[in-house]
Amino acid sequence: MGEFDFIERLRASFDGIGDPQIVGIGDDAAVIPLEDDVLVVTTDMLVEGVHFLRHATSARELGAKSLAVNLSDVAAMGARPLASFLSVALPVELRGEWAAEFAEGYRELSARYDVKPAGGDTTSSLGPVAINVTVVGRAPAANIKYRSGARPGDIVAVGGPLGESAAGLRDILAGHLDTPLAAKHRNPQAQVAEGEWLGGRLEVHSMMDLSDGLAGDLPHILRASKTAAEIELTAIPTPVDIELAVAGGEDYKLLLTCDPTAWPVLAADFEARFGSPLYPIGRIIPGSPEITWLENGTPVQKKWHGFAHF
Ligand code: ADP
Ligand code: MG
Repeated sequence: MGEFDFIERLRASFDGIGDPQIVGIGDDAAVIPLEDDVLVVTTDMLVEGVHFLRHATSARELGAKSLAVNLSDVAAMGARPLASFLSVALPVELRGEWAAEFAEGYRELSARYDVKPAGGDTTSSLGPVAINVTVVGRAPAANIKYRSGARPGDIVAVGGPLGESAAGLRDILAGHLDTPLAAKHRNPQAQVAEGEWLGGRLEVHSMMDLSDGLAGDLPHILRASKTAAEIELTAIPTPVDIELAVAGGEDYKLLLTCDPTAWPVLAADFEARFGSPLYPIGRIIPGSPEITWLENGTPVQKKWHGFAHF
């Protein structure tokens, strides 16, 4: 059973339990309604050998990354992160210096975004390092961006260049640990302020963060929204191969869809606010949840091979 089949099985078997107003499994984070605001809650686990190689990352970078990937999911909902919970399973030999450095990386990123480290759990591991981080965020209910909100006609846009992280991983796997791209792979930058700001814009109809690559992630929006998309390959911002930009993972850039009439103002306001652009890469169209890839406006047949990532 693959990861998505397992999650789908859990979703189906957990269905109907608890308060039906809580929106659970299937988006970047769960949404728990309060009075006018909602809480969003997300959790992500990193396991040594599966998600990272200990010899290829510093403990400090790993501490920051384990929080960053969760901040990215909260931002993707249009919410502001408030508090985090950190659970670690550590081999005995890492309890000293390594653990202290890890904590320092986690602390620095927490301080940068003023997100309160509010608890967790610590245990020993007889095998690999395992790290689980949960982040709780908050937003006005109207700001929350679900994957199900895309509408035909919407502009599809991304929040920054894609593919750098996958190119960095390629360097690391080839034994080149010190390249600028390898550093990008180890130090993902979640679009925290951008996500919260976009949450406040009603013309943004759906949003998620790119953790598994555009070719893998956009279909989540298309399935949830019962729409299709056309993506112009030449419009995808990337300093590396287009394959890595489309099929590589761990970019942690925002992917959003926006009402077309409001797009020019949104794009201009975003650039004025953040000093970098939103990149339009295509459109939502009616149809079954598939992506038509275009090259200079002409449909091309592409089979992207998922790029192995940790
Ligand atoms: P993301 O890449 O945004 O973190 P994932 O692909 O990890 O999302 O998960 C997809 C959805 O499935 C999320 O809503 C997540 O909460 C849910 N999910 C994943 N694993 C489990 C699990 N073991 N139990 C319940 N829900 C899960
Ligand atoms: Mg996500």
